Amino acid sequence: MCGIAACYGVDAAKYVYRLMLELQHRGQESAGIAYVADRCIKSIVRSGYVISAISPDELSSVNSSVAIGHVRYSTSGGYMDGEGAQPIVVGNGNRRISIAFNGNIINYRELSREYLKRECVSDSEALAGLIYLFTLELGDVVEAVKEVGNLVLGSYSLVVLTNNNELIIARDGNGFKPLAYSIQDKSFVVASETSAIEALGFSAREVGPGDILSYDGSSLEVLPNAIRSSCFTPCIFEYIYFSRPDTIFNGIQVHEARVRMGAFLGKLDTQEVDVAIPVPDSGRSAALGYSIAKHVMLDEGLIRNRYVGRSFIMPPNIREFISSIKYGVVKSVVNGRRLAVIDDSLIRGTTMKEVVKLLRSRGAHQVHVRIASPPIRYPCFMGIDFPTRRELIAARLANTGSIAKAIEADSILYNTVEGLKWATQLQTPCMACFTGEYPFKGLDLERLENAFSRWH
Ligand code: SF4
Repeated sequence: MCGIAACYGVDAAKYVYRLMLELQHRGQESAGIAYVADRCIKSIVRSGYVISAISPDELSSVNSSVAIGHVRYSTSGGYMDGEGAQPIVVGNGNRRISIAFNGNIINYRELSREYLKRECVSDSEALAGLIYLFTLELGDVVEAVKEVGNLVLGSYSLVVLTNNNELIIARDGNGFKPLAYSIQDKSFVVASETSAIEALGFSAREVGPGDILSYDGSSLEVLPNAIRSSCFTPCIFEYIYFSRPDTIFNGIQVHEARVRMGAFLGKLDTQEVDVAIPVPDSGRSAALGYSIAKHVMLDEGLIRNRYVGRSFIMPPNIREFISSIKYGVVKSVVNGRRLAVIDDSLIRGTTMKEVVKLLRSRGAHQVHVRIASPPIRYPCFMGIDFPTRRELIAARLANTGSIAKAIEADSILYNTVEGLKWATQLQTPCMACFTGEYPFKGLDLERLENAFSRWH
């Protein structure tokens, strides 16, 4: 998961910067902008949050009508080491392109060897190299995006910029990742999520799965379903955790889907509790649904430090440190009470164990953990940095009793796969991390775990 943005219009780089700020929740390891000036592509790419990586003053002198941007959450390569930071600029002489993408290319090593005749250190480097190569061969960048799109296995939403002031965007055929745009008064604005575009005052439309769109400053060309796929399998984790609640993904408001997840869970739950408290922020919408369905009071028992980032999308060393400083407790809410603690998901269980301990230390009588998604038992190779099976608590431990014991909760209840499908109202979402049924046939799980794992 990363965030991508683009703009064609007056003050393009400044609009892209604002979009990146709106997408900061999708990646906090690096931030970068590429823009065209005098037929050259220039870029600023640095580690850290948008505001610390690129100062608004740096952009005040940039006079460009087309720009792309990226905020990074890495799923391969190193953490915060600059490797894989985007946008990437490739090419030389009269033909240069820059790309930024959100996703993960499973077969990038094979494609690099076959077409680029070299080993690429990241999927972003491979993708950029392939699009550049095919642009030279086919003489057209849209055709190149289409050709490469039909070669790669994996997930991606993509923005491509050329030094000839062309802007091309695409979403993979399975539609794993979100991508939205707006065209208004000759301004073409693109972002990973509809909410980012709307925050800037534009009305957003979603890019369809497999669609390629290109804009040259005067007309928008749409190639529907240009990238083939056998199935529409959007990532269900966008609804569970990644996207902002005010985003619409595949026509479904993320907040509403989360409320329904919580409602389904509340209906399943037979445990008597006094109060439902969310793990902020991503557990909030689900906790609302849970409390309505279960007719139990909703209250804020955990207070999140807003000045630390989203721990799940941090590198492991920072993630553990942040987990230990993230929450304060409202003692009057938890003291002497039987709590239902609602979170969006449970990965390794280490943060939740700390939360349970913290709540008990502030006087909670019982702590019942309620998870708005099913047990995560399988790794993801489509752009989410899930651990290998041996580190996923639900893959390691045989049943919910042992999981509750490991996190020191009185009980744990998960949502079901049916509940999740009902909540999102999608027919064929990707749910492979819950079911082990990957949208691509013949994946070698062991080999991919070794190839992509950084959780050692
Ligand atoms: S495996 Fe899970 S996280 Fe990965 S794309 Fe599928 S639903 Fe999303």
